[in-house]
Amino acid sequence: MYSKPNILLIYTGGTIGMMKDFETGALKAFNFKKLLQKIPELKQLDCEIQTISFEKPIDSSNMNPERWIQIATIIEENYNNFDGFVVLHGSDTMSYSASALSFMLENLAKPVVFTGSQLPIGDLRTDAKENLITAIQIASLIQKGKSVIQEVCLYFEYKLYRANRTTKINAEHFNAFTSPNYPPLVESGVHLNLNSAMFLPKQTKKFVVHKEMDDNVVIVKMFPGINESVLSAIISIANLKGIILETYGSGNAPTEEWLIQTLKKAIKNGLQIINVTQCSGGSVTMGQYETSMQLKKIGVISGKDITTEAAITKLMYLLGQKVAPNVFKTIFETSLRGEMQ
Ligand code: ASP
Repeated sequence: MYSKPNILLIYTGGTIGMMKDFETGALKAFNFKKLLQKIPELKQLDCEIQTISFEKPIDSSNMNPERWIQIATIIEENYNNFDGFVVLHGSDTMSYSASALSFMLENLAKPVVFTGSQLPIGDLRTDAKENLITAIQIASLIQKGKSVIQEVCLYFEYKLYRANRTTKINAEHFNAFTSPNYPPLVESGVHLNLNSAMFLPKQTKKFVVHKEMDDNVVIVKMFPGINESVLSAIISIANLKGIILETYGSGNAPTEEWLIQTLKKAIKNGLQIINVTQCSGGSVTMGQYETSMQLKKIGVISGKDITTEAAITKLMYLLGQKVAPNVFKTIFETSLRGEMQ
C-alpha cells in the first residue's frame, strides 16, 4: 500500500520567515505558525509534513556550533520517523551550517535539504515559496522504499547542490548560491532533472550523529602586506588548534622567510594549518609553483578544491573528534562527505 513520505520541516529562522519591525523598519524573525499560514500550497504536496521550530528563530548571522548541535539533535531524535528533512535557514551562513551538518551526520541515508529565501514569504515577489515547495518535493523522493538522495544538500533558485560544495555569492540576486567545483545534483525546470551520477552512493552503515565541534580555529586570508607581527599574534592565540589559510590561486603564498618560519613554528607547536584557495573555483596544488613548495615541505595540509565554509567546519569536526595529530593530515585530505575531489 502506498503511504505518503513523511517530511520534517525544521525552522531555524532567516528572511523566509521575517517581517518588518514597525518601529525600526528592520527585518526580524517571526513565529513559525504564521509562516505556514502564508503557504496554503503546502497542503497540496503529496507528503505528510510535520514541523518543529527553534524556540526563538534567528537571523543566521547568529548561527553557531551550539545551534548546529541543536539541528543535528532534532534530526537524530526524528530520524526513524521521517523520510526526509528540510531545514529552513537564513541564507547568510547557510553554507557553513549545511557543511557542518554534512560532517556531523555520518552514514546519512535520508535527505537533509537546507533552504531559505532572499525575500520574506509574505512578500509579493517572494522566492520563498518555490524554494520551500521544491525542497520538500526533493526531500520526498523515494524509490523502492529508499530515499533517492542520501546527503545534506542546499536548494536555492531551481538548483539542488551538495551542501558542502556551496558558497553564498550574492546578497541581491535570487540566485544567491553557487557550487563552483561540483555540478548541481538536481535542476528544477518543467521536470526535476536528477543528476544521479553525482549523488553520494547509497548508504548501508548505521547512522551516527557527532556533536563535538571544536571552535578553537581561525580563518586567515592572505593579502599583499600581511606582516609578521599580525601572523605571529594569530598563531599565539591561546588554545588555537587550527588555521584555514586562504592563499592565492592554486595555493600560493609569499616566499618570505618570516612567513615560512612562523607557519613552521605553528605546525611544530601542534597547530593544523590547511591551505585553501581564495579563488572561488579551482583547487590547491602545492608544489605547482615555487610559492607553494615551502608550504608543502613544512607540512601544510592541502584543502584541494574544498570551499572555505566546508574547510572550517571540517576542521572543527575533526578537532572535535580528537583525531590524532599523526593522521590528521591524511584524514583532512580525504573526502569524507564528498566535500573535496
Ligand atoms: N540575514 C538573513 C539570514 O541569514 C538573510 C537571509 O535569510 O537570506 O538570516
